[in-house]
Amino acid sequence: MNGLVHALRAALGDAAVLTAPEERIAFERDWRNLHQHPAVCVVLPKTTAELARAVSLCAGAGVAVVAQGGNTGLVAGGVPVAGVPQVVLSLTRMNRIFAPDRVGNTVKVQAGATVQAVQAAAAAAGLMFGVSFGAQGSAQIGGAISTNAGGIQVLAHASMRANVLGLEVVLADGRVWDGLRAVAKDNTGFDLKQIFIGGEGTLGIITGAVLRLLPAARAHAMALVGVADVAGAVRVFQDIRAHAGDSLTMCEFITRAALELGAAQVTAGRLPFAAANYVLTELSSHTPDAPLAALLETALAPALESGIASDAVIAQSERERLALLRLREAVPEGELAEGGAVKHDIAVPIAATARAVADIEHVIATKYKDCRLNIFGHLGDGNLHVNVRPRAGAGLDDLADRKAAITADVEAIAMAYGGSFSAEHGIGQLRLDGMQTHKSSVELELMQKLKHALDPRGIFNPGKVLPQ
Ligand SMILES: Cc1cc2nc3c(=O)[nH]c(=O)nc-3n(C[C@H](O)[C@H](O)[C@H](O)COP(=O)(O)OP(=O)(O)OC[C@H]3O[C@@H](n4cnc5c(N)ncnc54)[C@H](O)[C@@H]3O)c2cc1C
Repeated sequence: MNGLVHALRAALGDAAVLTAPEERIAFERDWRNLHQHPAVCVVLPKTTAELARAVSLCAGAGVAVVAQGGNTGLVAGGVPVAGVPQVVLSLTRMNRIFAPDRVGNTVKVQAGATVQAVQAAAAAAGLMFGVSFGAQGSAQIGGAISTNAGGIQVLAHASMRANVLGLEVVLADGRVWDGLRAVAKDNTGFDLKQIFIGGEGTLGIITGAVLRLLPAARAHAMALVGVADVAGAVRVFQDIRAHAGDSLTMCEFITRAALELGAAQVTAGRLPFAAANYVLTELSSHTPDAPLAALLETALAPALESGIASDAVIAQSERERLALLRLREAVPEGELAEGGAVKHDIAVPIAATARAVADIEHVIATKYKDCRLNIFGHLGDGNLHVNVRPRAGAGLDDLADRKAAITADVEAIAMAYGGSFSAEHGIGQLRLDGMQTHKSSVELELMQKLKHALDPRGIFNPGKVLPQ
């Protein structure tokens, strides 16, 4: 390995190659502190040419490459696996954002730019970037594209896939595919960028992207609504969608237990009112004085009058709006701070959400009696994080011998309703059993063929996405 490290240093400079364990550790350990294996070194290229050179050198030495963005992924996809010599290739220094094109509503970025920095650049140009999620301050565009990240505004602006117009990708043989086109229409053969979107670093390394921007939203109205159960939450969602149509940009479901975890992370954080479950919803408009609060009140009236909704508050200022949003976004941090959970990221058709959650509650209450459920997520997409916490006072170790069975049970329920066992987080290392169990042999074979065609020697992100 010394030869490879020496060659990487000669090509990229000493400062771009980290070998000391204390320098590597933050890149070797995943966000949840559950997965950590040593890398040969961490490489931090500044340009596509440097990155391509690093890939060529690793390929020549037969050493695998793990692309890493902000390392916020929740399926341990961006960190090394055990037993395979690997170099972590961090995109952190490739964070340039070019001036947005205000005619075409696009922006070209290097893949290491954070999602939040792209949002800020878009806002400075009077535009917005439509993908938004709790980890956006650290998560990078390359990571978000590679996981096809979703988040809180998917029901309005879709996932990353729909917000990418062009890509630049370094291939397994070190060549660069320049597909940085800024056009919405391009029916010239296979749409190659789609192969890399959601590829989780197993097919190529994304070094740049052209992203679609939108006119900036100039008015918002956010409400927190109390409901007794998931069926009530779905009813509230339906009512708001029926009244507000395209103005509906967010509709989240959060149990009280989950929101309390979020509140514990926020200074002076508290729940505005007590309820068994909550819906956090937002309307947005490009018209500055659009009467969104009144629209929200009208939309919520039937649920409040019929008792489906027990209470509701509408944020009266931007400060209140951001405080409500922060409560929701802090839920994963709160869960981690309280010892973590066996996490799941399921999707079901929205009409089946209440039945699927009831089935899951039943399974947990009967088979894993001491466990606590923590459910929250993107109701408007039918995508819920169904996380199973150990009994109060116990650590995650308490679930070590049961976690595979818990996950199999939760995922089986999602699949029985025609859903997905990984809606937005991807597969990484943690969902491989789900791939084996739930993907058909045809799907797995097609994926293996694609992998073999693009990465015949298997140097990109071994042990991720595809079961052996
Ligand atoms: C608090 C919190 C909230 C979250 N909320 C959401 C949410 O609402 N919606 C959602 O979808 N996700 C969410 N996530 C998950 C995570 O933030 C996303 O998956 C995000 O897109 C990962 O980006 P990253 O830059 O951190 O990627 P990393 O974690 O570094 O990597 C993720 C995967 O992408 C690959 N990769 C990274 N960069 C590249 C590249 N340039 N080229 C090729 N492959 C690459 C890695 O190898 C790995 O397989 C959340 C995570 C946290 C911690």
